[in-house]
Amino acid sequence: MATKNLELSQLTGDKTYTEIIFKQVWGKVEAYQAAHPQQQIFMMAFGDTTQPLSATVVQALVHAANRLGNPQTYTGYEDITGNPALKQAICANYYRQKISVELEPEEIFISDGAQSASVNIQDLFALDNRVAVQNPAYPSFVEGTLLAGRPLLNLPCHEQNNFVPKLPEERVDLIYLCFPNNPTGAVATREQLQAFVDYARNVQAVIIFDAVYSSFIQTTNIPRSIYEIEGAKECAIEIGSFSKWANFTGLRVGWCVIPKALTIKNTVPGELNHLWRIRHAIKFWGTANVAQQGAIAALSPVGQQECQGVVNYYLQNAGLLREGLAAIGLTCFGGIDSPFIWVKAFPSLSSWQFFDQLLDSTGIVGVPGCVFGDWGEGYLRLSALGRREDIQGAVEHLGRFATRA
Ligand code: PLP
Repeated sequence: MATKNLELSQLTGDKTYTEIIFKQVWGKVEAYQAAHPQQQIFMMAFGDTTQPLSATVVQALVHAANRLGNPQTYTGYEDITGNPALKQAICANYYRQKISVELEPEEIFISDGAQSASVNIQDLFALDNRVAVQNPAYPSFVEGTLLAGRPLLNLPCHEQNNFVPKLPEERVDLIYLCFPNNPTGAVATREQLQAFVDYARNVQAVIIFDAVYSSFIQTTNIPRSIYEIEGAKECAIEIGSFSKWANFTGLRVGWCVIPKALTIKNTVPGELNHLWRIRHAIKFWGTANVAQQGAIAALSPVGQQECQGVVNYYLQNAGLLREGLAAIGLTCFGGIDSPFIWVKAFPSLSSWQFFDQLLDSTGIVGVPGCVFGDWGEGYLRLSALGRREDIQGAVEHLGRFATRA
């Protein structure tokens, strides 16, 4: 007799980010639209990209698709851990050239994005491992942990600690860190990351470092990779993605790094890397070959230049939004090394009340901060990954909120 997965069924009923967004946030937007059919909506809730792929990427995709349509050049399954040229490009053109970090291509595993990699990576660890997550957090770290049935510990992030958590006070085995952070837009200094790496090495914990927004870092001396930190290869897995800096949210290419030096209590160096290879072969057979060719092109010198141009565009959006929010007296965080702006609600407004009032008076849609965890209460996340004209329109409409508040 088949029975349902209880961990999964416990996540129904508006307990997951997607359900809350699509039912509650979207429900309110639809109701607002029905009541105000003339009013423009400024959708700044989603972390989806809006700018087109770079010309170099498009050229590579077309070329790769044409090769698949030709009997002389057709190819099928590839190396399931990823196209060797892509793994090589990630090592050489991203880690070595941009970050001065040395990794071997065998330490890179190509995925269909960071979302799946960041959750699936838990398959490497025992079910009783305790997982620490930042609170507020990118939802899949929490939901993936609950789905696996692992114990969860929150690391509060708030204004007093600049949204970078203190080291865990209880024993933990896995620690999710995400910098630049989604949703707060915060970054961590070298010293702060060093403290986490030292902690992890001390207690033989593993850091799962989500570096999806690394290309947005502008501030000098802020690490773009956990491997810039001494000792990190022995205790950290890094998750990367082409989604946000190369506009691959639809194409789906990401990666994770499992250094050969990474060891935990009952493993020898290289064993976790090997285990992930086996897990890959059981549950995943590689991401689309055409998309991987696009990713190789994004990492070419011209591709990187074009993609960085789009990152700069999103960052300019964030700058405009920050200015507009400050002009009406709102305090906001992030938006400097990140496309996300973490807006503090006016005193006495909850996240949802702030969401409602902002929507009602301006047509701007964000995500209430409490959706990312209880430490997000009293905040709202706005995404600057939109089109410039929408950002400018939203900023103009902010004045209406000021007069209402
Ligand atoms: N990690 C963080 C922190 C994100 O914000 C996102 C997407 O919004 C992802 C992972 C997922 O990215 P991908 O599109 O590569 O799956």
